[in-house]
Amino acid sequence: MSEQPKTGQLTFVAPRRAKPQRHLADLTMAERRAAVAELGEKPFRADQLSRHYFTRLTGSPEQMTDLPGALRERLVEQLMPPLLTSVREITCDGGTTRKTLWKLFDGSLVESVLMRYPDRVTMCVSSQAGCGMNCPFCATGQAGLTRNMSTAEIVEQVVAGARALARGEVPGGPGRVTNVVFMGMGEPMANYKAVIGAVRRLVDPAPEGLGISARGITVSTVGLVPAIGKLADEGLPVTLAVSLHAPDDELRDTLVPINTRWKVSEVLDAAWSYAAKTKRRVSIEYALIKDINDQEWRADLLGRLLKNKLVHVNLIPLNPTPGSKWTASRPEDERAFVRRLESHGVAVTVRDTRGREIDGACGQLAAAPQ
Ligand code: SAH
Repeated sequence: MSEQPKTGQLTFVAPRRAKPQRHLADLTMAERRAAVAELGEKPFRADQLSRHYFTRLTGSPEQMTDLPGALRERLVEQLMPPLLTSVREITCDGGTTRKTLWKLFDGSLVESVLMRYPDRVTMCVSSQAGCGMNCPFCATGQAGLTRNMSTAEIVEQVVAGARALARGEVPGGPGRVTNVVFMGMGEPMANYKAVIGAVRRLVDPAPEGLGISARGITVSTVGLVPAIGKLADEGLPVTLAVSLHAPDDELRDTLVPINTRWKVSEVLDAAWSYAAKTKRRVSIEYALIKDINDQEWRADLLGRLLKNKLVHVNLIPLNPTPGSKWTASRPEDERAFVRRLESHGVAVTVRDTRGREIDGACGQLAAAPQ
């Protein structure tokens, strides 16, 4: 485990650690065929394996009846090693919200959350074990950064959810993952390469990937400006979410320490360029914290910054985290904040607090073993 960071301290580079074993979800189809060929087998075996993993959602050799017995074991061992072990599962909302604590090969712990709604299923996934961005109101940030996750470790969280849904293990009948949000543990833009690899696996049509619509994918960031620029050039129409939490540098410097590197105006400029390039509406995340960032004048300032932009504001009532003195805004202050923003013509919704009772809501993922 990493040490608790000092106030305002930022960690961009993850500690060097042993890497998880290679998995087919780390690889493009061409790379999978090459890997199979290197093992002395016909490249089409890679297609068969991919179908088992991404279409049939199975990793067990017994079910791969189109592959010769001995070969199944060998290919699974080489290209589908188990990467995530479920340590604990907690559910609420009648089983339609479920948080899973995963242990990675080196003992690192991460969490993912599945949320089923009448019309969609959203999976919230982690991209790093811990986080180096140190936002004082976020439980993950308080624990520091342990390591980056690999592409396949990220993808496996979604595949596990897809599998549970396909098998009818989530109340509501068999279903599919329609949305994936990179809002679990970690700062996705600080683990850029692995995250982009995961996004590609998620959107690539089956059996190369899971075939989820890019429009259903959201990448959330504290505002690593150069990485936002890179993401805009990927040609992937995913939704960008920016965790703003304050419209003024003075306050944002303390709530989102990355602001000491890239200011509010810089992160918003990057967001508008992203919107212009992708034609996708940017989402602004704003946790409402009682008497800290919920004043009407701040709503007004935010409204002026966002007016006439391709943007949507997501207000999140602050979720409680251990050791934090802050709480959610009073209902009347929240309502006033919404009204002020709307008076500038800005689209705004208040996010539900799904998973709060199982510490699975925004900012509550801390992966404590007990
Ligand atoms: N590091 C990325 C991805 C995590 S997303 C990012 O920060 O965008 C998690 C979202 O929940 C972020 O918008 C984060 O600011 C927000 N959040 C963190 N702690 C929270 C809390 N205690 N209550 C409500 N939202 C919180």
